Amino acid sequence: MDYSEKISHQVAAIPRSGIRDFFELVQGRDDVISLGVGEPDFATPWHIREAAIYSLEKGYTSYTSNLGMPSLRKAISGYVEDFFKVGYDADSEVLVTVGVSEAIDLALRALLNPGDEVVFHTPCYVSYLPSIALAYGVPVEVPTTVEDNFALKADMLEAAITPKTRVLMLNFPTNPTGAVMPVDELEKIAELCVKHDLIVLSDEIYCELSYSDDEHVSITTMPGMRERTILLHGFSKAFAMTGFRLGYACAPSPLIEAMMKIHQYAMLCAPITSQAAALEALENGEAAMLEMKESYHQRRDFVVGRLNEMGIDCHSPGGAFYVFPDIRKFGLSSQEFAMRLLEAEDVAAVPGNAFGDAGEGFLRCCYATSFEELKTAMNRIERFIGTL
Ligand code: PLP
Repeated sequence: MDYSEKISHQVAAIPRSGIRDFFELVQGRDDVISLGVGEPDFATPWHIREAAIYSLEKGYTSYTSNLGMPSLRKAISGYVEDFFKVGYDADSEVLVTVGVSEAIDLALRALLNPGDEVVFHTPCYVSYLPSIALAYGVPVEVPTTVEDNFALKADMLEAAITPKTRVLMLNFPTNPTGAVMPVDELEKIAELCVKHDLIVLSDEIYCELSYSDDEHVSITTMPGMRERTILLHGFSKAFAMTGFRLGYACAPSPLIEAMMKIHQYAMLCAPITSQAAALEALENGEAAMLEMKESYHQRRDFVVGRLNEMGIDCHSPGGAFYVFPDIRKFGLSSQEFAMRLLEAEDVAAVPGNAFGDAGEGFLRCCYATSFEELKTAMNRIERFIGTL
């Protein structure tokens, strides 16, 4: 059968993830140090795993409310109010999802009509562009630069806005650059959102992993923004819970209701075992989370220091667990650099152009890997650039 005739044009047009292509090459090679995969090297803290086990022991194996367990929604509402300084009603303004991934998909499908434009800053998380396209939207990239520490500039954003722009997607701290937003620039962006009547999808999945002394500030707290922001957050990164697949969206109830309509038919609810674990993370997980954060902070300083010392320009990212070194001076494309590094030294890092054209000339290295491996990886990278 010719399956190409059977696949929807929309899906056929989506390119494969550049990360996936690259990691297929890594498979089967021994002794590779991977700085590639964007997930914590810690197992989920034991007391959180235990809460999942207890919930199974107690026989909690049913569906939950479509929105998520009321106790979890209440805990999320409390956590969000403490952390972000903005209140959401646990009964009508919080939706528990299967990771932030599902929440992104639901929000875009709930908001977009065919042909609506969605503006987002690049380099960005690999799912944004395909998720917009799958929701029949038109992706519009706004490049950010190393000179601005990969923060989004309000004037660049305004130049990309057209009468068809409906949604702005933000992700700070950013995957892959670790960028954080200066508050004054974020305020200008908020003003633009109000002026152009945009809805903002603010993916703040790395918000706890911010290393500056200044507190993380969400755009939803800015004047006129709560009513037009869908705040997305989850448990994968700061609580090291990627495998539990749990996230959430907070927004005014008509937006949550629209997302819920899709969620109830596509997913029904998030898994109850994961919800029990997430509740424990929110109630008792802060100490373990802060310990992991401190460890990432130390590793960031080590990696940034080593890269700069060996002559690779690398800005010090304000958050997440990625560095995004500038490799342009070596005269190789991101793809060539990453391939040759892998071939010569068995170190896997992701070519920056996997995150959009604005990432060309850079590499993404995830430093959520052991200190020992990071040390070896840095020595190998140093040896590799010595041969260029
Ligand atoms: N958003 C960003 C910016 C990410 O980096 C990731 C995962 O890497 C996700 C969302 C997906 O997270 P989840 O595991 O909650 O689906």
